[in-house]
Amino acid sequence: MNDTASLSARLGKAVNRQRLVDTALRLIAVPSRTGEGGAVADCLAQLLREDGFQIERPAAGHPNAPAVVVRLATGKPGRTLQFDGHLDVVHLPFVPPQLSDGSITGSGACDMKGGVAAAVEALRVLRDANALSAGGVLFTAHDLHEAPWGFGQQLDRLIGDGVVGDGVLLPEPLTGHLPIVGRGAARWKVTIRRRSYCRMLFARPIWPARLRASVTLSPSRVTNSPRSAQARYIWSSTPTTTTW
Ligand SMILES: [Zn+2]
Repeated sequence: MNDTASLSARLGKAVNRQRLVDTALRLIAVPSRTGEGGAVADCLAQLLREDGFQIERPAAGHPNAPAVVVRLATGKPGRTLQFDGHLDVVHLPFVPPQLSDGSITGSGACDMKGGVAAAVEALRVLRDANALSAGGVLFTAHDLHEAPWGFGQQLDRLIGDGVVGDGVLLPEPLTGHLPIVGRGAARWKVTIRRRSYCRMLFARPIWPARLRASVTLSPSRVTNSPRSAQARYIWSSTPTTTTW
């Protein structure tokens, strides 16, 4: 068995499946819509503390939910591998965690509290197996990821403040694959203005999504308050005649 294979076997044996599952369930149990990730960040910090890790909590421009940072350093020169994950979930009704038939479900189970739990377990395993011979591992978890409620501001600030590794693993959901390279991401905001007077009839959410999307996008007043208008019209459960 070569060095990599024997190390992999050693680390594999050190993974505690039940501890990993428990970690994911604890994180999923804390509601954390984007921008409101303070409680789940506290939960993560607490469970890492229980495992004996030293925690840093830089606000990184978002004091309502300071980030969670752990450094696993060998003290020997070498590169730092970063595990990074977001703790926020999209703004949908909260679903509590459930474990059934070997699958975990609940808000953020897949994107990406399961991945954050895996990174936490990796930290434990690397430490307990004394597997690092040089350099170190940096673990970071934060809020403000999911657009359009967040735009990565807290992560940008962490990077700007130097809380960053030489390479990073992002355990986002990719059906079991661990990506080792990525092409980045782009986000944009579209504002549509029109001059014409607009009168529309629209009704229940079972109507085609494109119709509701067009209603959301078309009136100029939506650009003044996109989120409230979107919420009011998309989630309307009774037929409504609306005039702009
Ligand atoms: Zn995600």
